[in-house]
Amino acid sequence: MTPRQPARSLSRATVASSRDAVRLELLESYLIHQDDVARCAQSSLEWLARHAGVRRSICLIVDRDPGTLMGVAGYGVPAEDVDLFAWPLADPRDPLVAALSASGNVAIRPARANGEVGRTSAGAPLGAGPFTAIPLRGARERQEGALGLLLLRQAAPVSPDITWLATVLGQKLDQILGRGSLSEEVRKLRRERSLLFTIINSVTDPIIVTDQTGETVLMNAPAEELFTVPSQQEESAERSVQANDAHFSSFISGMLLGETGPGEIRRGEIGLVNPTTSELIPVEAIAGKVLTESGELTAVVTILHDRREALERARLYEQLKLASDGLQARVHAAATELATQNELLRRQAIELEQASRLKSQFLANMSHEFRTPLNAILGYTHMLLNGVAGDRTAAAKRQLQRIDSNGRHLLTIINEILDITRIEAGKMPIQLSAFNVNDVVPEVMAELDPVISRSKLSVAPRLAPDGPLVHSDRQKVKQIVVNLLSNALKFTHQGGIEIAVQYDAPPGTVSISVSDTGIGIAPEHHERIFEDFRQVDDSPSRQYGGTGLGLAICGRLATALGGRITLGSNLGQGSTFTLTIPVDAPQ
Ligand code: ADP
Repeated sequence: MTPRQPARSLSRATVASSRDAVRLELLESYLIHQDDVARCAQSSLEWLARHAGVRRSICLIVDRDPGTLMGVAGYGVPAEDVDLFAWPLADPRDPLVAALSASGNVAIRPARANGEVGRTSAGAPLGAGPFTAIPLRGARERQEGALGLLLLRQAAPVSPDITWLATVLGQKLDQILGRGSLSEEVRKLRRERSLLFTIINSVTDPIIVTDQTGETVLMNAPAEELFTVPSQQEESAERSVQANDAHFSSFISGMLLGETGPGEIRRGEIGLVNPTTSELIPVEAIAGKVLTESGELTAVVTILHDRREALERARLYEQLKLASDGLQARVHAAATELATQNELLRRQAIELEQASRLKSQFLANMSHEFRTPLNAILGYTHMLLNGVAGDRTAAAKRQLQRIDSNGRHLLTIINEILDITRIEAGKMPIQLSAFNVNDVVPEVMAELDPVISRSKLSVAPRLAPDGPLVHSDRQKVKQIVVNLLSNALKFTHQGGIEIAVQYDAPPGTVSISVSDTGIGIAPEHHERIFEDFRQVDDSPSRQYGGTGLGLAICGRLATALGGRITLGSNLGQGSTFTLTIPVDAPQ
């Protein structure tokens, strides 16, 4: 901390040339009209610096209660080192204590603790080297010894000017102090000052204390950086400090003129410049008045809060908000686009559904149109084979039989197409009745008897005799099993086929499985073969005929009955297709 006012006063002082003139100057300007110990001591040290070349000095005063030597003024040393200097008088062998009762000046070499000069060393504020202690005495000789010490960072012997000053200062201080001890009032003031310094110094924001005229009394180190010219001073730094001074003064005069009551604070924005870096620092100045008990203004304390971080945060917040607004707009645009696309898709789906319905309708109509002439062809072929139009030769009969078998094959294909289109159009009626599943198996075998005979495979039924009656569509169940058995016959070349009925696996169901020892189906085809027109081998040169609609129809019929078809198979290891339906089909 730097008491600034004395420095300003000093710069205004007249520089006298003769010794008498400068001595007079001290007496007139600083000592005679002063009645403050610290001010007198400070002025004296500054006078010593100007006229006796003493670059570092401290003035100490004895405080009898509780027995300490306290710093009251310093020159060329940190202000807080002086303010906080308190040296115990308890040890009479201590060089400083001994110096108080010495008749003349004493040269002292500071004690070294652990090889270092600590803050508590007697001459610590003056630096590590030896120093001279000059006792300060009052006009009257007193038994207790000197009332204080003048410590100079200067080797003895001292010049006559210094000795003269010590005498004058001693007498003046004796006069101020009256009975030679600091009053309780002064001690209290010092304690409060010391507390204030500690508080101000522990704050990282610049703090400035100004008096009632707006003159700076005190400032902490961060404030010094803004309001004092750095040692390697440049013109720009000086200009910055002047500008800072002007801004701050105008804020303070506003505070002094303004109607601010006790406890109220005044806030303002000031633009300051860092003298070292020339960087602009926007600060918020927060000032409060310090009033005496009688309401008189004694000081104004101002804290300057660097707003760069807050402004940066505000800027980042704005950026973030902008980015978030942008994002929101983009999300909104994307949502609108999505809604448009969805609407488009919905319309396309409706159009597709209409097209699909038209296709199914067309296929159903066409199948019907195909079946009528085909049935006529088959009927006439039958009549010709039965000799209605006279006997045929053996060759003609064989050709008629080919027409018949190909016609029937075509009829099967047309029927399958009709079935799938009916199912797709939701026009496949389900007719429920109560029947025994065991009865269905021989019927299926009877229907496929010609194929079974041709195949030379064994087809073994394995029934479950004690099963309950099933409520389902008998015709559909039979259609499915016929399909599964005809597939088994088609894809098996040797071995046998088994048709097994089983109840209650899982409970409430009945299942009919058709197992063969045929070519088998690789697992990757298991799902696909239930799709429309799908075959494991769908190449044009395929070995097995068929439309690829059989299993698709079976799967959908099973679903319509509330059941499903499962498949267990591996390539070359035969297949087992199992139809599982509930004993009671859903309505
Ligand atoms: P399609 O038999 O008319 O081709 P399906 O829908 O009935 O049509 O069968 C589809 C395909 O499933 C068949 O082409 C065949 O590749 C395979 N498949 C069906 N059943 C068997 C089976 N028991 N053994 C081996 N492959 C089979």
